[in-house]
Amino acid sequence: MGKEKNRVALISVFAAIFLTAFKLTIGAVIRSLGLFSESLGKRATNVLLDRVPEDSLAKVEEVLKSIHGITRYHDLRIRESGADTFVDIKIHVKADLTIQQVHKICNQVEDEVRKVIKRSDVFVHAEPEGKHTF
Ligand SMILES: [Zn+2]
Repeated sequence: MGKEKNRVALISVFAAIFLTAFKLTIGAVIRSLGLFSESLGKRATNVLLDRVPEDSLAKVEEVLKSIHGITRYHDLRIRESGADTFVDIKIHVKADLTIQQVHKICNQVEDEVRKVIKRSDVFVHAEPEGKHTF
């Protein structure tokens, strides 16, 4: 009788442990599913927001290559929102140029990009060649 009681107690202890572990596991699975679907949702949104026509990148790169004074460029980002296109670019220029010269180059980039991409907002960040300050 006593043995039987102990066995029942032991089983219920195991059952409780098992149930707790089971609940924790299910909880973790549900949470991770939630995170998963959230990240999927985010990705879908980003894809929509970052939807960029194939040729935009090539157009901007063409402009950057055509402008004298730009030694290199990086972090070119193009993003569309409705009918507007946002272009972000970091250019490097020779370090001994004056601020007027650099400003002229930046304006040139903005003007030329606006010519090839309608309704574009262009942000140019200029850096002296040889340094990488961001
Ligand atoms: Zn840089």
